[in-house]
Parts: sequence; C-alpha cells; structure tokens
Amino acid sequence: MAQIDDLPPLRDVISRFGLDARKSLGQNFLLDLNLTSRIARTGGDLKGQTVLEVGPGPGGLTRAILAAGAERVIAIERDERCLAALAEISAHYPGKLEVISGDALAVDVPAILGSDSAKARIIANLPYNVATPLLVGWLRCEPWPPWWTSATLMFQREVAERICAGPGSKTYGRLGVLAGWRSEARMMFDVSRQAFVPPPNVTSTIVHLVPRQSPHPCDPDRLERLVASAFGQRRKMLRSSLGGFCKDPATLLERAGIEPTRRAEEIDVAGFVALANSAAD
Ligand code: SAM
Repeated sequence: MAQIDDLPPLRDVISRFGLDARKSLGQNFLLDLNLTSRIARTGGDLKGQTVLEVGPGPGGLTRAILAAGAERVIAIERDERCLAALAEISAHYPGKLEVISGDALAVDVPAILGSDSAKARIIANLPYNVATPLLVGWLRCEPWPPWWTSATLMFQREVAERICAGPGSKTYGRLGVLAGWRSEARMMFDVSRQAFVPPPNVTSTIVHLVPRQSPHPCDPDRLERLVASAFGQRRKMLRSSLGGFCKDPATLLERAGIEPTRRAEEIDVAGFVALANSAAD
C-alpha cells in the first residue's frame, strides 16, 4: 500500500473510532491509498487548488487529495462519528482541511467558498443514496459557468453509463441530456466491489465532468420537464410522448424542425434545447 502520509492506516482509524459502515448512509469505504490517490489524480493537478469533497468518512480520499497538494479542502460529512478521525487529518495539514458536519444536499457551497470568484474542484466517493440529486444540483446551479471547475465522482456503473450516454443508447435519458447540455462527461475507470469495505452489490465507475463554458442558453426547468415527458414514454413517437409537456406537440416539433415521428432516444441535446426554447416563444 502506498505511503502517502504519516497518518495511521485506515483500518486502524476505522477500528479506533468505531466507524463500522452504515448502509443507511451509503458507507462503503476505500482503504487502498493507491486507489484514492488515483482518484485524486483524475481530478487534475491539485497543487494550490480548492477541492470540495462530499462524504469523507474515515478520510482515505481526503488524505489523497491533501497529499496531492490541494491548498484548501472543504469536506462535508453527515456522520458525526467520523469527525474525530477527520480532526486528526486536519491537525496533520494545518489550515487546509475544513470539515463541515451536515447534509451535503443542504449546504450552500458558494457561501463557504467565499469570494465571488472562488472556484473549486469536486472530488468524491459519493454516498449512492444522494449521488444523483447532488449531481443534478451541481449541473443545474446558477449562475453558469458554475463555482466548480471539474467534478470527479464515483457512481454505480449503471448510473455512470446514464450520465455519459448519448443519443441511440438504451441508457440515454434525463441524466444524459442534463449532463451533456452543461458539461463534457467521461467515464474514466471502473472500481471493483472488492476495493470497498464493505463491498457494495455492484461495480462502481469514476466519472469526470468538466462544465461547458457556453452551453446553449435554455431554461433548466423547462428542459427538465420536456425531457421527463419525452423519456417517460421513450418508445413512443414524440408527437405523442410530448403530450405530457404541451397541448400541441405537433406545432412545437415543427417549430423546432424535428420530425414528429422521431423518438426521444434519437434526439441529441441540441434538439432537446431547440424544443424547450420553441416552447418558450
Ligand atoms: N470518502 C470515503 C471513502 O472513500 O472511503 C467514504 C465514502 S462513502 C461511499 C460515503 C460517505 O458519505 C460516508 O462517509 C457517509 O457518511 C457520507 N454521507 C452520506 N450521506 C451524506 C450526506 N447527505 N451529506 C454528506 N455526507 C454524507
């Protein structure tokens, strides 16, 4: 195992602080510091950077991020049992790690980042129960371009496929349109079940997202409602599946220049944006 710092091995940390994993908190810990270092590296050159980590747990990924040279790490953890373990890491890297005790879904990250121009990279082995709502929140945040400059995130493989899917794929849907609209999203590598303690039921995948600086202008709410309606009946033609979105799908499709007989999974992000914007006129 890599020696990335002088802190105790994670197994010792877990037993000393009684951090037995809780399923309700999506706790599957990574104890291999080679692997956490690889995830941190996937987030780019961290020297001097500010990093947001959600769910540091016993701190394996936090340690890798700090060892990679991050200047400031904001780590949001819901499980208060982890706070003492994280305080040890804070003491080892004075002034660099701020641990916030709470629910990441409720934390106002830009307010913590401080100055208007402050930007951060997000790197996290996300708790699976809140991974999708967190990503959707980051992709929908305003103003855009957002406060985050990249996001390097662990998801269940099936969710990673949906995030990175494009037209023609069975997994293309709401997440693929939202992620494709505002970011470039790529699957980076798989992480086997055995890498976690305890092992989850499925393979995981690291996804790296970089925000697009100038996505096609569109109202996120309208785009979401449109896409939900289109993919709600993904096998039907748009002239019928968009009935849940507007009263007159045929006119909407004509205005957007899209054939009414096409199906949701054939429409690219630009097509959905054109449809959403046609509804606005
Ligand atoms: N980063 C650690 C690692 O890689 O070993 C732990 C990852 S574990 C998959 C997810 C972590 O997120 C747990 O520590 C859990 O307590 C925390 N967590 C769960 N729900 C959370 C929430 N809503 N906000 C913040 N942290 C949360």
